[in-house]
Amino acid sequence: MICLKTKEEIELIRESALLVGKTLAEVGRHICPGVTTAYLDHIGEQFIRDNGGIPLCKGFEGFPSALCISVNDVVVHGIPSDSLFLREGDNVSVDCVVDLDGYVGDSAYTFPVGEISDDMKRLLTVTKESLYLGIEKCKAGNRIGDISAAVQSYCEKNGFSVVRELCGHGVGFKMHESPNVPNFGVKGTGPLLKEGMVIAIEPMICAGSKNVKFSKEDGWTCRTKDGKNAAHFEHTVAIGANGPEILSSFDFIEQ
Ligand code: MG
Ligand code: MG
Repeated sequence: MICLKTKEEIELIRESALLVGKTLAEVGRHICPGVTTAYLDHIGEQFIRDNGGIPLCKGFEGFPSALCISVNDVVVHGIPSDSLFLREGDNVSVDCVVDLDGYVGDSAYTFPVGEISDDMKRLLTVTKESLYLGIEKCKAGNRIGDISAAVQSYCEKNGFSVVRELCGHGVGFKMHESPNVPNFGVKGTGPLLKEGMVIAIEPMICAGSKNVKFSKEDGWTCRTKDGKNAAHFEHTVAIGANGPEILSSFDFIEQ
Protein backbone atom coordinates (compact mmCIF):
# COMPACT_ATOMS: atom_id res chain seq x y z
CA MET A 1 0.00 0.00 0.00
CA ILE A 2 1.26 3.47 -0.88
CA CYS A 3 0.96 5.88 2.09
CA LEU A 4 0.20 9.44 1.02
CA LYS A 5 1.52 12.22 3.25
CA THR A 6 -0.14 15.49 4.25
CA LYS A 7 1.61 18.84 3.72
CA GLU A 8 2.42 18.93 7.44
CA GLU A 9 3.91 15.44 7.32
CA ILE A 10 5.96 16.36 4.25
CA GLU A 11 7.45 19.31 6.15
CA LEU A 12 8.47 16.96 8.97
CA ILE A 13 10.00 14.52 6.46
CA ARG A 14 11.86 17.51 5.00
CA GLU A 15 13.38 18.25 8.44
CA SER A 16 14.64 14.69 8.61
CA ALA A 17 15.92 14.75 5.01
CA LEU A 18 17.76 18.03 5.65
CA LEU A 19 19.50 16.46 8.64
CA VAL A 20 20.59 13.69 6.25
CA GLY A 21 21.95 16.33 3.86
CA LYS A 22 23.87 18.05 6.66
CA THR A 23 25.22 14.70 7.82
CA LEU A 24 26.49 13.86 4.34
CA ALA A 25 28.21 17.25 4.22
CA GLU A 26 29.78 16.74 7.65
CA VAL A 27 31.07 13.33 6.57
CA GLY A 28 32.25 14.84 3.28
CA ARG A 29 34.40 17.38 5.12
CA HIS A 30 36.38 14.47 6.60
CA ILE A 31 36.86 12.58 3.33
CA CYS A 32 40.51 12.57 2.28
CA PRO A 33 43.20 10.04 1.47
CA GLY A 34 44.21 8.05 4.57
CA VAL A 35 40.96 8.11 6.57
CA THR A 36 39.12 4.88 7.24
CA THR A 37 35.49 4.34 6.36
CA ALA A 38 34.86 3.41 10.03
CA TYR A 39 36.07 6.87 11.04
CA LEU A 40 33.63 8.48 8.58
CA ASP A 41 30.84 6.33 9.99
CA HIS A 42 31.72 7.49 13.50
CA ILE A 43 31.61 11.15 12.39
CA GLY A 44 28.23 10.62 10.75
CA GLU A 45 26.65 8.74 13.64
CA GLN A 46 27.80 11.34 16.15
CA PHE A 47 26.44 14.16 14.02
CA ILE A 48 23.05 12.48 13.59
CA ARG A 49 22.70 11.80 17.32
CA ASP A 50 23.94 15.30 18.31
CA ASN A 51 21.10 16.67 16.19
CA GLY A 52 18.43 14.48 17.76
CA GLY A 53 18.19 11.88 15.02
CA ILE A 54 18.46 8.11 14.91
CA PRO A 55 20.64 6.49 12.22
CA LEU A 56 18.21 3.94 10.79
CA CYS A 57 20.69 1.76 8.89
CA LYS A 58 22.24 0.69 12.19
CA GLY A 59 20.61 -2.57 13.21
CA PHE A 60 18.43 -2.75 10.09
CA GLU A 61 18.25 -6.50 9.37
CA GLY A 62 21.53 -6.75 11.24
CA PHE A 63 23.44 -4.03 9.36
CA PRO A 64 26.20 -3.03 11.80
CA SER A 65 26.80 0.65 11.04
CA ALA A 66 25.11 4.04 10.92
CA LEU A 67 26.05 4.69 7.29
CA CYS A 68 26.56 2.61 4.17
CA ILE A 69 29.97 3.59 2.79
CA SER A 70 30.82 2.12 -0.60
CA VAL A 71 34.19 2.59 -2.30
CA ASN A 72 34.90 2.26 -6.06
CA ASP A 73 33.50 -1.09 -7.29
CA VAL A 74 31.24 -1.38 -4.25
CA VAL A 75 27.90 -0.12 -5.57
CA VAL A 76 26.00 0.17 -2.28
CA HIS A 77 25.71 -1.32 1.23
CA GLY A 78 29.43 -1.15 1.99
CA ILE A 79 30.09 -1.80 5.67
CA PRO A 80 32.41 0.78 7.23
CA SER A 81 35.71 -0.78 8.30
CA ASP A 82 38.69 0.34 10.34
CA SER A 83 40.96 -1.47 7.92
CA LEU A 84 39.62 0.24 4.79
CA PHE A 85 41.66 3.39 4.15
CA LEU A 86 40.57 5.80 1.42
CA ARG A 87 43.16 6.48 -1.27
CA GLU A 88 43.65 9.37 -3.67
CA GLY A 89 41.55 8.72 -6.77
CA ASP A 90 38.85 6.61 -5.06
CA ASN A 91 35.17 7.42 -5.15
CA VAL A 92 33.14 6.91 -2.00
CA SER A 93 29.37 6.74 -1.82
CA VAL A 94 27.85 7.64 1.53
CA ASP A 95 24.23 6.59 2.07
CA CYS A 96 22.39 7.86 5.13
CA VAL A 97 18.89 7.26 6.49
CA VAL A 98 17.68 9.20 9.52
CA ASP A 99 14.63 9.07 11.75
CA LEU A 100 13.95 12.51 13.20
CA ASP A 101 10.91 12.67 15.48
CA GLY A 102 9.34 9.69 13.73
CA TYR A 103 9.88 10.89 10.15
CA VAL A 104 12.40 9.37 7.79
CA GLY A 105 14.73 10.98 5.24
CA ASP A 106 17.10 9.11 2.91
CA SER A 107 19.86 10.49 0.70
CA ALA A 108 23.22 9.44 -0.74
CA TYR A 109 26.13 11.18 -2.42
CA THR A 110 29.24 9.86 -4.14
CA PHE A 111 32.32 11.91 -3.25
CA PRO A 112 35.67 12.00 -5.03
CA VAL A 113 38.70 11.33 -2.85
CA GLY A 114 41.30 13.91 -3.84
CA GLU A 115 41.90 14.05 -7.59
CA ILE A 116 39.95 11.46 -9.57
CA SER A 117 40.27 10.35 -13.19
CA ASP A 118 38.24 12.01 -15.93
CA ASP A 119 36.39 8.71 -16.45
CA MET A 120 35.35 8.63 -12.83
CA LYS A 121 34.30 12.29 -12.92
CA ARG A 122 32.05 11.52 -15.88
CA LEU A 123 30.50 8.54 -14.07
CA LEU A 124 29.71 10.71 -11.05
CA THR A 125 28.37 13.57 -13.18
CA VAL A 126 26.14 11.38 -15.35
CA THR A 127 24.78 9.47 -12.34
CA LYS A 128 23.87 12.69 -10.55
CA GLU A 129 22.34 14.18 -13.69
CA SER A 130 20.24 11.05 -14.16
CA LEU A 131 18.86 11.50 -10.65
CA TYR A 132 17.65 15.00 -11.51
CA LEU A 133 16.17 13.80 -14.81
CA GLY A 134 14.23 11.19 -12.82
CA ILE A 135 13.10 13.84 -10.35
CA GLU A 136 11.74 15.99 -13.22
CA LYS A 137 9.22 13.21 -13.88
CA CYS A 138 7.85 13.35 -10.31
CA LYS A 139 4.55 14.92 -11.24
CA ALA A 140 1.06 13.79 -10.30
CA GLY A 141 -0.39 11.89 -13.25
CA ASN A 142 2.94 10.46 -14.36
CA ARG A 143 3.94 6.89 -13.53
CA ILE A 144 6.92 5.33 -11.76
CA GLY A 145 8.06 3.97 -15.15
CA ASP A 146 8.53 7.55 -16.37
CA ILE A 147 11.15 8.08 -13.65
CA SER A 148 12.76 4.71 -14.35
CA ALA A 149 12.96 5.27 -18.10
CA ALA A 150 14.42 8.76 -17.69
CA VAL A 151 17.25 7.45 -15.48
CA GLN A 152 17.96 4.40 -17.61
CA SER A 153 17.94 6.06 -21.01
CA TYR A 154 20.26 8.88 -19.93
CA CYS A 155 22.79 6.56 -18.27
CA GLU A 156 22.80 4.06 -21.13
CA LYS A 157 23.07 6.83 -23.72
CA ASN A 158 26.25 7.83 -21.92
CA GLY A 159 27.65 4.31 -22.07
CA PHE A 160 26.94 3.29 -18.48
CA SER A 161 24.75 0.51 -17.11
CA VAL A 162 21.97 0.34 -14.54
CA VAL A 163 21.91 -2.11 -11.63
CA ARG A 164 18.79 -4.29 -11.73
CA GLU A 165 18.84 -5.93 -8.30
CA LEU A 166 18.27 -2.79 -6.21
CA CYS A 167 15.96 0.18 -6.54
CA GLY A 168 14.49 3.28 -4.93
CA HIS A 169 11.39 3.16 -2.75
CA GLY A 170 8.66 5.00 -0.94
CA VAL A 171 9.89 6.63 2.27
CA GLY A 172 8.82 9.02 5.03
CA PHE A 173 7.09 7.01 7.72
CA LYS A 174 9.44 4.06 7.37
CA MET A 175 12.78 3.45 5.69
CA HIS A 176 11.29 1.32 2.93
CA GLU A 177 7.71 1.78 1.79
CA SER A 178 5.81 1.06 -1.40
CA PRO A 179 6.23 1.61 -4.26
CA ASN A 180 9.55 0.35 -5.59
CA VAL A 181 11.27 2.88 -7.84
CA PRO A 182 13.48 0.94 -10.28
CA ASN A 183 16.20 2.74 -12.22
CA PHE A 184 15.18 0.93 -15.40
CA GLY A 185 11.79 0.56 -17.00
CA VAL A 186 9.27 1.69 -19.56
CA LYS A 187 7.56 5.06 -19.79
CA GLY A 188 3.87 5.11 -18.92
CA THR A 189 3.99 1.91 -16.84
CA GLY A 190 3.94 1.18 -13.12
CA PRO A 191 2.14 2.87 -10.21
CA LEU A 192 0.52 6.24 -10.80
CA LEU A 193 2.18 9.20 -9.08
CA LYS A 194 -0.16 11.14 -6.81
CA GLU A 195 0.20 14.33 -4.82
CA GLY A 196 1.42 13.41 -1.33
CA MET A 197 3.64 10.51 -2.37
CA VAL A 198 7.20 10.65 -1.03
CA ILE A 199 9.83 8.51 -2.75
CA ALA A 200 13.57 7.99 -2.62
CA ILE A 201 15.07 7.96 -6.12
CA GLU A 202 18.55 6.44 -6.18
CA PRO A 203 20.34 5.62 -9.43
CA MET A 204 23.04 2.97 -8.91
CA ILE A 205 25.12 3.17 -12.06
CA CYS A 206 28.10 1.13 -13.27
CA ALA A 207 30.96 2.13 -15.53
CA GLY A 208 31.06 -1.42 -16.96
CA SER A 209 28.42 -4.13 -17.03
CA LYS A 210 25.26 -4.01 -14.93
CA ASN A 211 25.95 -7.28 -13.13
CA VAL A 212 26.58 -7.21 -9.40
CA LYS A 213 27.38 -9.73 -6.68
CA PHE A 214 26.64 -9.68 -2.97
CA SER A 215 29.35 -10.60 -0.48
CA LYS A 216 29.01 -14.12 0.89
CA GLU A 217 31.04 -13.16 3.97
CA ASP A 218 29.00 -10.21 5.24
CA GLY A 219 25.77 -10.65 3.24
CA TRP A 220 25.63 -6.92 2.42
CA THR A 221 28.44 -5.56 0.27
CA CYS A 222 27.20 -5.19 -3.32
CA ARG A 223 30.04 -5.05 -5.89
CA THR A 224 30.17 -4.86 -9.65
CA LYS A 225 31.00 -8.30 -11.02
CA ASP A 226 33.57 -6.89 -13.45
CA GLY A 227 35.32 -4.84 -10.76
CA LYS A 228 34.64 -1.54 -12.52
CA ASN A 229 33.54 1.57 -10.65
CA ALA A 230 30.00 2.43 -9.66
CA ALA A 231 28.26 5.56 -8.40
CA HIS A 232 25.13 6.25 -6.36
CA PHE A 233 23.18 9.45 -5.73
CA GLU A 234 19.86 9.65 -3.91
CA HIS A 235 17.26 12.24 -2.97
CA THR A 236 14.01 12.06 -1.00
CA VAL A 237 11.36 13.68 -3.20
CA ALA A 238 7.71 14.58 -2.61
CA ILE A 239 5.12 14.73 -5.38
CA GLY A 240 3.72 18.21 -4.77
CA ALA A 241 0.74 20.06 -6.23
CA ASN A 242 3.10 21.88 -8.60
CA GLY A 243 5.54 19.08 -9.37
CA PRO A 244 8.53 17.62 -7.56
CA GLU A 245 9.76 18.93 -4.23
CA ILE A 246 13.24 17.71 -3.33
CA LEU A 247 13.19 17.30 0.44
CA SER A 248 16.84 16.31 0.91
CA SER A 249 19.63 18.61 -0.28
CA PHE A 250 23.15 18.50 -1.67
CA ASP A 251 23.55 22.26 -1.02
CA PHE A 252 25.37 21.64 2.27
CA ILE A 253 27.93 19.58 0.34
CA GLU A 254 28.25 21.70 -2.77
CA GLN A 255 28.02 25.23 -1.33
MG1 MG B 1 19.73 5.64 0.96
MG1 MG C 1 17.08 4.55 -0.29
